[in-house]
Amino acid sequence: MEELKYQIDLLHATNEKLSKDEKMLRLICETSNNAFLYYNFAEGHFRTVANWNHFFDFTVTGLQDLNRLYECVEEQCVIPLQEVLFIEKQNIKSQSIEVRLRDKKICVEVEVNIVYDDAGTPTDKIIRFRDVTRLTAQNDELTYLAYYDILTGLYNRNYFVRLVGEFIRKAETENTNVAVMFIDFDDFRRINDGMGLIVGDELVQVFGQFLSELMSDHVVVSHFNSDIYCIGIYDPCGARSVDTVYKMIKERLKSPFKLSGGQEIHITVSVGVAEYPEAATGTLELINCAEIVMFKAKSMGKDKVVYYSGSILNEFINNVTIENQLKTAVFQQNFIMYFQPQFRTADKKLRGVEALIRWKNDDGRMVSPAVFIPIAEKSGTIIPIGSWVIEESLKTYAGWRRKYHYPLVMSLNISAIQYRQADFTDKLLHIMEKYDVAPEEIELEITESVLIDDFTEITEKLEVLRDIGIKISLDDFGTGYSSLSYLKGLPIDTLKIDKSFIDTVITDENTRIITESIIYMVKKLGFETIAEGVETEEQYRYLSEIDCDNIQGFLLGRPMPPDKIECLLAEMTA
Ligand code: C2E
Ligand code: CA
Ligand code: CA
Repeated sequence: MEELKYQIDLLHATNEKLSKDEKMLRLICETSNNAFLYYNFAEGHFRTVANWNHFFDFTVTGLQDLNRLYECVEEQCVIPLQEVLFIEKQNIKSQSIEVRLRDKKICVEVEVNIVYDDAGTPTDKIIRFRDVTRLTAQNDELTYLAYYDILTGLYNRNYFVRLVGEFIRKAETENTNVAVMFIDFDDFRRINDGMGLIVGDELVQVFGQFLSELMSDHVVVSHFNSDIYCIGIYDPCGARSVDTVYKMIKERLKSPFKLSGGQEIHITVSVGVAEYPEAATGTLELINCAEIVMFKAKSMGKDKVVYYSGSILNEFINNVTIENQLKTAVFQQNFIMYFQPQFRTADKKLRGVEALIRWKNDDGRMVSPAVFIPIAEKSGTIIPIGSWVIEESLKTYAGWRRKYHYPLVMSLNISAIQYRQADFTDKLLHIMEKYDVAPEEIELEITESVLIDDFTEITEKLEVLRDIGIKISLDDFGTGYSSLSYLKGLPIDTLKIDKSFIDTVITDENTRIITESIIYMVKKLGFETIAEGVETEEQYRYLSEIDCDNIQGFLLGRPMPPDKIECLLAEMTA
């Protein structure tokens, strides 16, 4: 009796433990997001376990129900699924495949595990169904990102390099050419700054869509970044010649792009073209050449296509050399200041001087500022150079004034990059204070192109400077977009008529008419006039007759070192 009671207690305890274990296992299964199909070979039927309902709305109990399972998956998955469900025939322990469910549009990993007894006979089969939709989507996205650019859907830079590399290898064996067209929007910064980044992005997108229409077996299009695109063309000829492609682009750009916000935007592009094998034999080298050539198109006035030539590359290499030498020059301050006198036309008295920088490079050669200033502007070196010019010029000026007490105007050439610096005015005022130079003694020269690019930002700055009492002078007038009507809105005091007018003022009737009307009108607006590049007595006489206020040029004085200016000052004050 005792023995029986003991057995019953034991059974209870075992049952309780078993039901606890079962509960635990069920919970684990149900919270695992998986579904299981369990098959016992001896019993010959299936059981569905855990999250079965997430995948299927029927249960499987016998082999015949498996047909319903096959009906749920996409057609191409049926046979692989059948094979994996019956792997026990091949005496394999486990295997998995991925199938797509037809209606639910989910991706399922099916993994089968078989348990065998010692004799090698299968006893149990556990089939696990795991939802891998998100994982697969992430994988797809990663694959997409590896080849495409999200914004435009065009090939990305890396993949483009690979594709052009394949073109080049093929061209090598087939003895033909590969062209790369490097395309960049003109003045994209103005669109981004003026209309916002979202508009800029949409423009990049719609232009990308247009370019994607050019794609074919032999033409690949890529969005590199920002407003830069590249087209690779295998064996460019006929309908896919560079000329034809460029004409198609130009044709499209004749009409504006209509954006979702209602804006209509006209753009132009600069295009650089380099071809294998003429320009380069390596892919990256070829793309680099096309980029360098694109910059040439920009410097030639934008809205152009330029083809590679050895001289463009040489010029580029030369500029890079200058850029590197400039960096050391800034460090070692290998610059000197020259000053060119400006005279009043009426009495030939000294009106002021224009500060012009000079650079003696490492080989002792003088490099013209017309060459190195644009390079310094591109690389940003203009900032320290510009500060040095201001400091050196004001220091020199203060010395002259102390010695000669002659009222002069010191004209300084200031680059757009300098004006754009937030602390430009503060720095200038600081140097003026340091050398005790009054605002009326200073004139800042600005070119029209600077105004055109950043009209509002720069004119606001100029107004502040003028309020302080500093003079503003419009340099090289007549070379840019010169419209007399917009002059009246500008915060300027002086206008410098460019040398190109003075050059032909004697020989060309039209130039005379223009020069005379400029001077007439400018004087009416209350500005002072300076004629630049006056080289002959005849030019001087003529300018004097038409009432040009001041003369600057080789006739009366070349740019000279400070001690030569001192000689002039001594003459003036004698
Ligand atoms: P710019 O401001 O138009 O300066 C006048 C240029 O014309 C000077 O060339 C001057 O030497 C030259 N010139 C003056 N009179 C005559 C003449 O009668 N005949 C001829 N053939 N040329 C004359 P430079 O000194 O080579 O300067 C070239 C340009 O470099 C300047 O043109 C200016 O844009 C820039 N630059 C010079 N110094 C500086 C500077 O310190 N800062 C900045 N940002 N730019 C500078
Ligand atoms: Ca100037
Ligand atoms: Ca000038």
